[in-house]
Amino acid sequence: MTAKIIDGKAFAARVRGQVAEHVARLKAGHGITPGLAVVLVGEDPASQVYVRSKGKQTVEAGMNSYEHKLDADTSEAELLALIGRLNADPAVHGILVQLPLPKHLDSDLVINAIDPAKDVDGFHISNVGLLGTGQKSMVPCTPLGCLMMLRDHHGSLAGMDAVVVGRSNIVGKPMAQLLLGDSCTVTIAHSRTKDLGEVCRRADILVAAVGRPEMIPGDWVKPGATVIDVGINRIERDGKTVLVGDVDFDSAVKAAGAITPVPGGVGPMTIACLLANTLTACCRANGLMEPEGLTA
Ligand code: NDP
Repeated sequence: MTAKIIDGKAFAARVRGQVAEHVARLKAGHGITPGLAVVLVGEDPASQVYVRSKGKQTVEAGMNSYEHKLDADTSEAELLALIGRLNADPAVHGILVQLPLPKHLDSDLVINAIDPAKDVDGFHISNVGLLGTGQKSMVPCTPLGCLMMLRDHHGSLAGMDAVVVGRSNIVGKPMAQLLLGDSCTVTIAHSRTKDLGEVCRRADILVAAVGRPEMIPGDWVKPGATVIDVGINRIERDGKTVLVGDVDFDSAVKAAGAITPVPGGVGPMTIACLLANTLTACCRANGLMEPEGLTA
């Protein structure tokens, strides 16, 4: 068997198209333009690339992008003051503080200073609690993108056995909550899990969010399972730097029923879902109907 390759790049382009259409209708019908503020502290090269890409795609979707670049030695008080201004600004519907922050800044404190209604990353403690209790929330972008791809492939996920490898607050835990919300039977595995291979082999849906290159081999994949590989790992191969996931793609593709590649799987969905969340936040702020299929 060779798995269906789930094309995250094409899927993300479709999501961005849906967002752009909805934004155009908001502008024409209500004179409202969604706005996303991205705050970058310091000069981390990877963060600069992400922020640039977010800004570009925000504008391409017809939304306003507000970039705030602060020096690496910005004080917590200054950053909190900026967040306060963005919270109060009616033109800003989404606020994202690019992580990681420099060490002298308390990320939890900063994230929890964002108005939960504008917390398009879904990391605010209120949104974590709302998601955990099955209430309307802002959902973290990467797990939301994974859920969209799974729903698109399977329709209903009810009753499926899902295994999430990784228990981080930004991927593993919210992913597990979303799968539970869609009535999967969910197992969360981590570095202390005993016989991880055995656990993975039970999964109809296997989500890998670990950060270890190709650690999940094909013989851990139940025949016909759907494999979502969140991992992004840079390794040297044949004298070149290449991106690989947490799953050994070449062996897993032979066992799985469907699989996301790296690159071109989950990665492109993350920014697409950020745009979707900004649109959702804008609709909620204005008491308008939320776009269909773009939220959990
Ligand atoms: P974290 O480092 O925060 O979490 C990794 C998790 O993997 C931890 O829960 C850890 O367990 C678990 N783990 C580590 N080693 C093992 C092991 N040997 N066996 C089983 N579990 C293990 O990572 P993130 O969740 O932030 O990211 C995971 C991956 O996803 C990374 O490659 C990251 O680059 C990628 N990523 C991709 C995104 C995208 O847009 N596609 C967005 C965000 C992340 P424990 O808790 O016990 O330590």
